[in-house]
Amino acid sequence: MRVTEPGVTIPADLLPSDGRFGCGPSRVRPEAVDALAKAASTYLGTSHRQPGVKSVVASLRRGLADLFTLPDGWEAVLGNGGTTVFWDAATFGLVDRRSQHLSFGEFSSKFAAAAAAAPFLDAPEVIESPVGTHPEPVARAGVDLYALTHNETSTGVAMGLHRPEGADQGAIVAVDATSAAGGLRWSPAEVDAYYFAPQKCLASDGGLWLACLSPAAVERVERLAAGDRWVPASLDLGIALENSRLDQTYNTPALATLFLADWQVRWLNEQGGLAWAASRCDESAAVIYSWAEKSSYATPYVADPADRSSVVATIDLEGIDATTVSRVLRANGVVDTESYRKLGRNQLRVALFPAIDPAEVEALTRCVDHVVEQLA
Ligand SMILES: *Cc1c(COP(=O)(O)O)cnc(C)c1O
Repeated sequence: MRVTEPGVTIPADLLPSDGRFGCGPSRVRPEAVDALAKAASTYLGTSHRQPGVKSVVASLRRGLADLFTLPDGWEAVLGNGGTTVFWDAATFGLVDRRSQHLSFGEFSSKFAAAAAAAPFLDAPEVIESPVGTHPEPVARAGVDLYALTHNETSTGVAMGLHRPEGADQGAIVAVDATSAAGGLRWSPAEVDAYYFAPQKCLASDGGLWLACLSPAAVERVERLAAGDRWVPASLDLGIALENSRLDQTYNTPALATLFLADWQVRWLNEQGGLAWAASRCDESAAVIYSWAEKSSYATPYVADPADRSSVVATIDLEGIDATTVSRVLRANGVVDTESYRKLGRNQLRVALFPAIDPAEVEALTRCVDHVVEQLA
């Protein structure tokens, strides 16, 4: 028993074995950290241009191709800077003239803002929907890139990925899958660029971007890179592609991040790949949403069950201050259940990523019940 500040102590037998439920950076599996510690003396602090590190990059690229069953001709590309930097790189090197963006929360609005600010692009079309829902892409003449978000991490809304019917020949679909990649199902037939960062489902650290590119996306990157648009080298997707093919990054990457991401992808593939991972997330989602539906004080925030994410759950509370609940949980070692700040709701937000066992999510719901009972 740990005595805590607002006077509520969660009994040890209710606590999850690991208290990390944040949506990114998210829980890193202790087994991966142990493996990194074992490999440290021959891996950390060694050259990223030599086989020791390049073999990890190769394994990660191969592992992503396996995890997503990428068809022939697809390539896994990587670079430094995380998803936010990828938006800038894509603004330079993936949008030809005009993009369409679905905007339904904090993250999905950002690529739209980057494209809107670029002086060399036509003004993007932005399709919005109220937070807690998602819009669908609409085929539009002149749009050459459709920007979707697989999972809007700020609201806990997930969407199915489909090419808009009737889009221009050669238009590509680019998907921000930062919190979805490795936890939600998708079909490469519907997507051309599936990009993400490894601090969410891949249970690694931030600062890296990864993008799975279809042959059409690769062709777009190569065509724009060969054109006369000025691109800073660190944001040049053509340079990133060339380096990725050599299992390296343009400049020095974080070696621990690469190692942990590769470890997680190999672990997911050993367990049964994306089908296994997505089912595990579904199981966690069933646990938390059914708990909320039965609860007298908790409700799933996303009204349409079909839009409820199985990687990020958002749960509204009524008659009890969610910030206090999160603070008490934190004081008991259960951390990062706070809602997305800018959403401004009385809400808990909980990661259901594949590194988290559904039993741990169940333990979390028991902890919340205990805290609310004690605070009442
Ligand atoms: C976390 C997140 C981002 C931001 O990723 P960074 O690597 O921090 O830039 C972007 N989009 C979505 C959907 C996210 O969940």
